[in-house]
Amino acid sequence: MTMPEYDYDVVVLGSGIAGQSAATSAAQAGLKVVLLEKTGKLGGSSAMSGGFFAFSGTEEQAAEGVEDTAELFLQDMLSTGGGVNDRALLDAYLARQDETYHWLKDQGANFRALEISSGQSAPRSHNTVITELLANLHGTFIEKSGETRLGHRAVRLVRSNEGSVTGVVVESEGTESLFNARAGVILATGGFSRSTDLLRTFAPEQLAAIPYGGVGNTGDGLKMAWKLGAGVADMSYITATYGSHPETGEEFHELLTAYYMGAIIVNKDGRRFVDESKSYKTLGREVLKQPEGLGFEIFDAKVRAKSHPGIPLNDIGMIEDLGHIFKADTLAELAEAAGIDAAALVATVGRYNASVASRDGDEVGRTNLCNGVGELLPLDQGPFYAYPAKSLMTTTYCGLTITPKAEVVDVDGDVIRGLYAIGELTGGFHGAAYMTGTSLGKGAVFGRIAAEHAAAKLASSVAR
Ligand SMILES: Cc1cc2nc3c(=O)[nH]c(=O)nc-3n(C[C@H](O)[C@H](O)[C@H](O)COP(=O)(O)OP(=O)(O)OC[C@H]3O[C@@H](n4cnc5c(N)ncnc54)[C@H](O)[C@@H]3O)c2cc1C
Repeated sequence: MTMPEYDYDVVVLGSGIAGQSAATSAAQAGLKVVLLEKTGKLGGSSAMSGGFFAFSGTEEQAAEGVEDTAELFLQDMLSTGGGVNDRALLDAYLARQDETYHWLKDQGANFRALEISSGQSAPRSHNTVITELLANLHGTFIEKSGETRLGHRAVRLVRSNEGSVTGVVVESEGTESLFNARAGVILATGGFSRSTDLLRTFAPEQLAAIPYGGVGNTGDGLKMAWKLGAGVADMSYITATYGSHPETGEEFHELLTAYYMGAIIVNKDGRRFVDESKSYKTLGREVLKQPEGLGFEIFDAKVRAKSHPGIPLNDIGMIEDLGHIFKADTLAELAEAAGIDAAALVATVGRYNASVASRDGDEVGRTNLCNGVGELLPLDQGPFYAYPAKSLMTTTYCGLTITPKAEVVDVDGDVIRGLYAIGELTGGFHGAAYMTGTSLGKGAVFGRIAAEHAAAKLASSVAR
């Protein structure tokens, strides 16, 4: 029996920020587009995210007097990524960030807060309510005659005799059908934080982290492209993110980065073990090595006062309301309540405060709040707080090698024609670690690039 066939210009697989940016942009360019999503709802990890986009030189930064440039952004990416990032991808991002930022605003992105976060040396994380933005993008997509199919799982790519990808076989309710794509198939199926098998292969030590991320993120796009010989990058850098309560729920984003506001991190033995100003991915790796995989964010009333209500990662009050933060008048009482070695904690904070006062000799080498910026302050004003947190396997940030035009490149460096990859399933962009806001950012930027490239390709084939 032959399977049913459907014809489109572009077939987009996965409905997170990357897939939706590509699908909406392609539909706006007049292409006939279908968006296929394997689960029963749109959004993937994107919908669970904190909603931070990293851009430089924006209106919000200007309004707050923040000096930031593409050059500084590039330097931060290279230093956070250990210099192993693919420069061509970074250049493509920086060349297109401004246009994408304005397009997102046209789609209703309201960048309500600007924060400095992991890997940044200037406040560059622009926060929006991500579920609203995704809904708006989908609204535009539908308006532009885009079609969406939920519960449709892409299972294998189809190639012509010449080797170009021409379509994809999709399974839905036990039936397979073929979706042909005249201008290309765009893989936007996310990472593999939910694939025990792939994690066991590439980062077995990370299996100790709390599993998280979109439930559909099992590496399907990666495997489909592998079958065609696609190359990969950054696979050895998979790291969980530090800062979530051991009982963090799936429907609710709970991640606290009080360490960038001045908290220190100690283990159950009351000892510090890492420079807390580093990327929360670096912290994630170190926390996994601690007893019970636990790190406690320890802070005082001064840090507590910096809480930013309603803004993910910075809303201490919200996490207190969940009952996940210990509070006490003295450090010894705090340690007692939280199950930390009390004498060691008191001594650790004493040493920290002394080194802050002398500006010298911090035992873990910390000199600032976050990635080179921000004055350290002593933890000396009660009440004191402890947030017990683990590393969360939110994202994998590695995968398919692509050109700056989002075309998938095979293991020999040749483009696999007709196949694009965007978003978290691509490698090379982040390198060894991740700067906050660059994943949603790269999903949107490369989503637009892939759509544009596919549209141009179609136009040139029609003109011929
Ligand atoms: C808690 C949390 C907070 C985060 N906060 C931020 C942040 O503030 N800023 C930032 O930049 N990044 C953040 N991230 C990371 C970021 O959200 C993701 O890396 C990004 O959203 C990935 O986007 P994507 O479109 O590539 O994939 P996703 O949004 O994960 O979408 C992939 C989609 O593809 C679908 N899919 C999978 N396989 C198939 C298949 N075979 N067929 C069809 N569909 C398929 C999945 O079901 C899913 O819906 C966060 C992540 C988490 C989990």
